[in-house]
Amino acid sequence: GNVDIECDMLVVGAGPGGYSAAFRAADLGMKTVIVERYATLGGVCLNVGCIPSKALLHNAAVIDEVSHMAKNGIKFGAPEVDIDALRGYKEQVINKLTGGLAGMAKMRKVEQVRGIGTFLDANHMEVQATTGTGKDLSGEKKVVKFKQAVIAAGSQAVKLPFIPNDPRIVDSTGALELKSVPKRMLIIGGGIIGLEMGTVYSTLGARLDVVELSDGLMQGADRDLVKVWQDWNAHRFDNIMLSSKTTSIVPKEDGVWVTFEGPKAPTEAQCYDLVLYSTGRSPNGKKVGAENAGVMVDERGFINVDKQMRTNVANIFAIGDLVGQPMLAHKAVHEAHVAAENAAGQKAYFDARVIPGVAYTDPEVAWVGLTEDQAKKDGIKITKGVFPWAASGRAIANGRTEGFTKLIFDAENGLILGGAIVGPHAGDMIGEICLGIEMGADAVDIGKTIHPHPTMGESIGMAAEVAKGVCT
Ligand code: FAD
Repeated sequence: GNVDIECDMLVVGAGPGGYSAAFRAADLGMKTVIVERYATLGGVCLNVGCIPSKALLHNAAVIDEVSHMAKNGIKFGAPEVDIDALRGYKEQVINKLTGGLAGMAKMRKVEQVRGIGTFLDANHMEVQATTGTGKDLSGEKKVVKFKQAVIAAGSQAVKLPFIPNDPRIVDSTGALELKSVPKRMLIIGGGIIGLEMGTVYSTLGARLDVVELSDGLMQGADRDLVKVWQDWNAHRFDNIMLSSKTTSIVPKEDGVWVTFEGPKAPTEAQCYDLVLYSTGRSPNGKKVGAENAGVMVDERGFINVDKQMRTNVANIFAIGDLVGQPMLAHKAVHEAHVAAENAAGQKAYFDARVIPGVAYTDPEVAWVGLTEDQAKKDGIKITKGVFPWAASGRAIANGRTEGFTKLIFDAENGLILGGAIVGPHAGDMIGEICLGIEMGADAVDIGKTIHPHPTMGESIGMAAEVAKGVCT
């Protein structure tokens, strides 16, 4: 048939995975095309994920911080929130970043083709042009012929079948639209995304309920971290329902009425002004016509890849949320570089030992590598070093002593295996522990590294000092 564009590298999806793959491929001399249904580059992360959520969380954190200062002798009045302006600020942040990406694409001569891409075979993709917010088709079609391709179509929020359609029932994208501040908000699913959005709305004035199927919030993090988070945030919640589920959700004129089942569930239906469902994300592997190219997609929509990020079809790679957990932007970016480098003829492997996870709540919760809970479950012999922030001069000066820094070492050789931090800016601190794990540092290396005083970063050195017995 007709071919409209020919290229060395075709990337489908322009999230952190897709644009990173496209930029690296172009830098390595490949003529690169990127297909994206949205008007802008950046995918979920920049448009409706990491970045807008952090723009709102920053404002929430400042409001919360200021509210704690009366006891230091500094009183502010109640904040006056102009929600339209706040939404505008968030949009400005997004535009700055997506605009920057567009510039970087142009500089590298990466051609953007706007529309929904579907593989025709292992060397051709048809793109149905989109307009507006990304879902409307203009009727125009283009065929791109490629030598190699990277599938980076990401993921989308899971909508459980019993959740009705109603403007007051939203996923994270809807919550980020910040249309108004509800009086009562229900969060279905107590993971990072739900609790981040809950933090924003609660600081703006909403009362929160959360319902979570498992027995704890923020699954994946050590329970002692979550306890600190929960104690600090108890004031936001009317009811934290663990080991619980919703049994019915009925939108009515006066609100969305929800019933629950579980140990702390109320017997009567509860009325909410906003319901956020944040019960996980499902991969978009089935949405690019991968089967036409012979690429195997599992029943959930994940695409299996090897350590070179190659699918079962030699000239087609896959990266990001649709190749598996954890669904995080920093994982997607590293996978993207590996895929592009292999496509360009280099030999690259994705062999990260660890991938950190962070909840950008207040306090932040960050962890990487082996957790203490997991070590216990698996019977791995560890030595831990814990430094409570109550013993840190800087934390005391900041009025934030609730947190701690915990390092997990191999009991036999003292090598660092994991780390966990709860407290303001924990996410900014966890990278040092990632580096330690990647470089095979032990407790002495970390304990003898001079950290600046007084910083919270010092707590990492101190935690290693506490555990140093393991290799002295
Ligand atoms: P995506 O960013 O999902 O991008 C995929 C792109 O492909 C989309 O733009 C989509 O429109 C496009 N696409 C799909 N199918 C087609 C098709 N057939 N044709 C054309 N285009 C197509 N991660 C973090 O690391 N830190 C955070 O703080 C963080 N916060 C988050 C907050 C929220 C509210 C959410 C929802 C997610 C958050 N994440 C965070 C996760 C992060 O956004 C994802 O891990 C990341 O965006 C995945 O990148 P990706 O490249 O795989 O795909």
